[in-house]
Amino acid sequence: PTAAEPLLVVDRISKTFGGLVAVNEVSFTVKAGEIVGLIGPNGAGKSTTFNLVSGVLQPSSGTVMFHGERIDGRPARAIVRRGIGRTFQHVKLLPGMSVLENVAIGTHLRGHSGVWRSIVRLNGADETRLLAEAARQIERVGLEKHLHDEAGSLALGQQRILEIARALCVDPTLLLLDEPAAGLRYQEKQALAVLLRKLRSEGTSILLVEHDMDFVMNLTDHLVVMEFGTKIAEGKPAEIQANPAVLDAYLGG
Ligand code: ADP
Ligand code: MG
Repeated sequence: PTAAEPLLVVDRISKTFGGLVAVNEVSFTVKAGEIVGLIGPNGAGKSTTFNLVSGVLQPSSGTVMFHGERIDGRPARAIVRRGIGRTFQHVKLLPGMSVLENVAIGTHLRGHSGVWRSIVRLNGADETRLLAEAARQIERVGLEKHLHDEAGSLALGQQRILEIARALCVDPTLLLLDEPAAGLRYQEKQALAVLLRKLRSEGTSILLVEHDMDFVMNLTDHLVVMEFGTKIAEGKPAEIQANPAVLDAYLGG
């Protein structure tokens, strides 16, 4: 993407569930090298927006362009292969399996479903390649000391970072993180922010949903604010912090 052409262009996407308009004509962009925050009260449509970008849901209308190509309506695994990695709002790890196995399996799935079928189908050469790639990403996020620990034995902050390692195995140019800092302690949030800045400096752009305003304000280059399915504001963190409509949305005014 050039300066004139952002990495991700979301153009007037909408999603209705029955009579409910969960996302209503929302537009925003993510430029290469940016960390963009998507914020807003519960039920604003943030996770649905993520699902529309990652192909988990099809938009009712509107388009999503990534690297200059339309991706809306494409299956999730095709979007993953194009370079959008994601984590989910709720941790989706296999707690009894090792850190290495969790990342390797996630990599192999690349948007497919059916964990066990996927494992069974692996041949020896594929498995070796997969484990090497998984180990490389685990080291990249700083979890190499825990390679053979059970995922469920890690602290929550490390589990979130493990999920990020899994998303990184698809070599994404854009990473979607749904509430990565939720429930984390202060030190864990700090460690997460350090990691996300490192990934940005390595060329991975990030779109994240987050409620912790200090975390968002210190980390993001740009913010998009949603309420009741619509975008109510966007701009630099400092502009958003001073925006009366945003304050209203958060204070329930
Ligand atoms: P947020 O992530 O901002 O909290 P969501 O995108 O999860 O908000 O939800 C937006 C709205 O859409 C909410 O009212 C929610 O109940 C509704 N919603 C989300 N997913 C579905 C679904 N699969 N079916 C019906 N309603 C849904
Ligand atoms: Mg959500």
